[in-house]
Amino acid sequence: MRLVTYLHHGMTGVGLTDANATRIRPLDQVDGTPIADMLTLIREGLDLATPSVMRPMLTRAEVTLLPPIQRPPRNLFCVGKNYRKHAHEFAESGFDTASCTAVPAHPVVFSKLPGAVIGDRDSIFYPEGLSEALDYEAELAVVIGRGGRGIPRARALQHVFGYTVVNDVTARDWQQRHGQWFLGKSFDTFCPMGPVLVTADELDPSALDIRCWVNGELRQQANTRDLIFDIPTLIETISAGITLQPGDIIATGTPEGVGVGFRPPRFLQRGDEIAIEIEGIGRLVNDVF
Ligand code: MG
Repeated sequence: MRLVTYLHHGMTGVGLTDANATRIRPLDQVDGTPIADMLTLIREGLDLATPSVMRPMLTRAEVTLLPPIQRPPRNLFCVGKNYRKHAHEFAESGFDTASCTAVPAHPVVFSKLPGAVIGDRDSIFYPEGLSEALDYEAELAVVIGRGGRGIPRARALQHVFGYTVVNDVTARDWQQRHGQWFLGKSFDTFCPMGPVLVTADELDPSALDIRCWVNGELRQQANTRDLIFDIPTLIETISAGITLQPGDIIATGTPEGVGVGFRPPRFLQRGDEIAIEIEGIGRLVNDVF
């Protein structure tokens, strides 16, 4: 299923959508009650959902698309330096204060606050007076369905509900100055997500093209087959000591081509538009305001 969370006449709902997210069919529970949010669907399972027979098909123009999970239940798990060429561009940028080698031997995991999440077409607020090194990071994000602890690689994908698109927006100067990645990646509006979530039964995440444009200029172009640590490895690593919960999100890392990788760096400015596309999922567009 291709799912979206939407706002229509002041009510949120979850619906099925087509390849370009132009039309939305609202989903109901089997008793006819509308499904108001994605977390309910994730926790209860896809068997809960049935296309509504009472409510009409909606067009994109009639609704506001929201992040697939409006407010994740807790911090997003994020993976740093998970594409070789990006690991090198970041190590050579002078902004990398992580203590590990350029290409890590084990996944580098940090977190991002759920309050940073915004939807497609929402604005990323330019942190005026706070940062002069605003950057974009196109990423495939994994949404956990069934929770668990000590999940082995071999069974990891059984715990995935679906996949979506994330822009791991970063204030590089904060990332550098404070010696960790949490503050500079958790500013309000620094986590554009969605708009489409594709369920795991419909998508093989192991070889998807991922691209990012800034003002129409292609900056990032890679494929998820180049992930250093694949999704099963990330789930095994994170769940080793932490119980994963339904609705947890893992942003799998960004490929080369971020602003800080250029000489001189090409950081985001007010008015810029960032578009991210992942094969089989869709396109996420946000401006900097
Ligand atoms: Mg990232």
